[in-house]
Parts: sequence; C-alpha cells; structure tokens
Amino acid sequence: MMASTHVLFGLNCWLGYAQLRGLPLHPEAILIAGAASLLPDIDHPKSTFGSMVPFLSRPISAIFGHRGITHSLFAILAGIFIMHRYGYQTEYVAAIVVGYLSHLAGDMLTNSGVPLLWPVKSKIAIPVFSTGGFVEWLVRIALTGLLCWIVVWPWLAKTGVLKSYF
Ligand SMILES: [Zn+2]
Repeated sequence: MMASTHVLFGLNCWLGYAQLRGLPLHPEAILIAGAASLLPDIDHPKSTFGSMVPFLSRPISAIFGHRGITHSLFAILAGIFIMHRYGYQTEYVAAIVVGYLSHLAGDMLTNSGVPLLWPVKSKIAIPVFSTGGFVEWLVRIALTGLLCWIVVWPWLAKTGVLKSYF
C-alpha cells in the first residue's frame, strides 16, 4: 500500500474508532492517526517515514528487514497492550495505536501481505489489490470521499463557509 493510501486509511480508521467509542472528532487526534499510519514502515529507509529518520530506519531494516517485526503479531500485541494500558485514558495514544494498526491491516489487503508470524517468513494476506495498482487508486478516491463526507463537509457547514456559497 502506498504511503498516501496508508494515511487516508489511518485517518478513516480513526474516524471509525472515534464513532464506535463516541469520541468527539478532534482534528489533532485525526492527524496523529494519519501520521502514525506511516510508523510501521520505519523498517524501510526509503519509505516516507523511514527516509525522515535514517538513523533509525537503516539499523532496523538491517536487523529485521522490511515488513518484519514492525508488521508482525508482536507489533499488534504491543498495540493492544498499549491501548489497554493507556489508550482508553489518552486519546492521542489511542490515535497512535489505531493509526499504526491500520497500516498492518492495509498492508494485509495487498498482494504482499504481512508476516504476522514473524520470524516465520510466510506472509498472510487478504489480497484485494496490488500496491500502486488501479484498485488502490479507486480505494484512495473512496477514502478521500469518506473523509470529506465525515469531516470536511460538516466542518465547512459549521464554520459557515458553505452558507456564503449556497
Ligand atoms: Zn508497511
């Protein structure tokens, strides 16, 4: 999955999570979830996030490889643990965990899959599309539409920007 799709998916996962938990939609939490959706690719020095922190991504990549431990059941269990311990009290921690886990779910939807049972190399996938393909492009449009419908449109309506045009 491409970085932009991960971010859109992370943003939308946070919207879904906030809806389920009855949380208000704070812009900063939405943005944190979007940014956190790029964290698992810290294991790839050329990824969007990995290229920002080469001093971390190079050694992690050398030791674990791309789509290794950061995309595994260890990461999911760590996310569940952190969420259970801190996520219900602190919205921002929850946004980081939801964004992070959305990345793994997103990668699982691609042909490449994720090595849930790392260090076993076999990857688990529910292949809906291939990274960078036409279907991913459609998914990006759908996620953008959803984001506009849930966040951007109500925000514009609330601020009165829309009234001046209609
Ligand atoms: Zn990834």
